[in-house]
Amino acid sequence: MITYISTRGQAGRRSFEDVLLAGLAEDGGLFVPEIWPTFGADELRAMRGLDYPSLAARLLAPFTEGCFGHDELLGLARKAYASFDHAATAPLRHLAGDDWLLELFHGPTLAFKDFAMQLLAVMFDEVLSRRGQQLTIVGATSGDTGAAAVHAFAGKRQIRIAMLHPEGRISPVQRRQMTTVRADNVLNIALRGTFDDCQDLVKAMFNDAAFRQRMRLSAVNSINWARVVAQVVYYVWAALRLGAPDRPVAFTVPTGNFGNVYAGRVAAAIGLPVAKLVVATNENDILARFFQHRRYERGTVVPTTSPSMDIQVASNFERLLLELEGGDTARTRARMQAFAQSGAFALETLGEVAHLFAGGTADQGTVAETIAATLHATGELVDPHTAVALAVAVRHRPLPGVPMVSLATAHPAKFPDAVRAATGIVPDLPARYADLMTRPERCVSLDNDLHAVETAVCQQFGAA
Ligand SMILES: *Cc1c(COP(=O)(O)O)cnc(C)c1O
Repeated sequence: MITYISTRGQAGRRSFEDVLLAGLAEDGGLFVPEIWPTFGADELRAMRGLDYPSLAARLLAPFTEGCFGHDELLGLARKAYASFDHAATAPLRHLAGDDWLLELFHGPTLAFKDFAMQLLAVMFDEVLSRRGQQLTIVGATSGDTGAAAVHAFAGKRQIRIAMLHPEGRISPVQRRQMTTVRADNVLNIALRGTFDDCQDLVKAMFNDAAFRQRMRLSAVNSINWARVVAQVVYYVWAALRLGAPDRPVAFTVPTGNFGNVYAGRVAAAIGLPVAKLVVATNENDILARFFQHRRYERGTVVPTTSPSMDIQVASNFERLLLELEGGDTARTRARMQAFAQSGAFALETLGEVAHLFAGGTADQGTVAETIAATLHATGELVDPHTAVALAVAVRHRPLPGVPMVSLATAHPAKFPDAVRAATGIVPDLPARYADLMTRPERCVSLDNDLHAVETAVCQQFGAA
């Protein structure tokens, strides 16, 4: 059975169930499997005909052993992906030559985060109902993550969710995706403050021990191992359609917190022939700089047209760092402590795994040009995050005959202003959201005050 350890080496050996519910390890590190399960070429070939939930169950089974068996996983995956509105779940579109686009925006909130969050929610609900426990998830969002979480957890019996967003500072589409959800276990809070104020309040709620215990607080941020492993599935799904395991495939991934592209690293580790993982960033380019110069150095966040990637410290990077350090948890811990102090570190030598990666940056002007050029050349309207990937992918062509798959992480209608500025076209929302702008909203507006927020959460939910 696969067990999990912390990247910082001080949390012992843990089961999948522990890792699922805990998120972050107690020593401040991130959970990773102690060894990789692997799939041989014959096993991968045999997966070619599977539908998406069946593939998910096959790939995840070794990771969840002891918590979910294959058949149980299959049931959970069917439930999780039933809310996607494309028959292929993750359709692959041919652009030109060796270039492909993997559309990851057919889930309920039109961004790739639905893939992980939907599965995480059904896993949480199942484990908690076995234990007869309830949890209250609290989170802060600047857009995509909160919407994905609210949709995934709405109506789940064992879980209540309170989501804070900065009032007036997220797009109307993003806000309405959260506030038009009608479920009694959802509380939307519009905070009179900034996104950082929201995050500080969430931290303060966790630091209030009495409140934390009374409400049984939990979080579902992007470092949760279950979210990472759920994302491995679409890499394998796309590659199998392009001839893997008999042909290697390269991917370009629009990157912020390094969760999505790290799932590509896991796909390679378990046996998928991955030719390259290209880490594509906007002007917030800490990762692209790292892969170019081996120096990891925090900068200041610049707001861009791809806001879900406006991140300077990539929370999942620590998982790769452990591998770059040859699996040495003590060195990884020391590096992260140094980074917390000084905001930078440099690696003199990189482990073998570094060859898998390349990095590149596309600025906002290039992104706008890429949206227009892609529309002109292929008829596809792409969102700004996807355009970052497409712009960087052309500079990192693998060998001829090796497909390059760019990940389309959001539907263009989720970021209509940038798309209209680049093309003059306002992208239509998919049918499921045709009446989004007229549906009634449910949301409380609160001052930036811990007591006010805690009171609202207690009033809505009572104790857990
Ligand atoms: C979250 C997000 C990203 C960045 O993904 P990471 O896993 O944080 O690297 C890219 N595009 C969109 C649309 C997102 O919502």
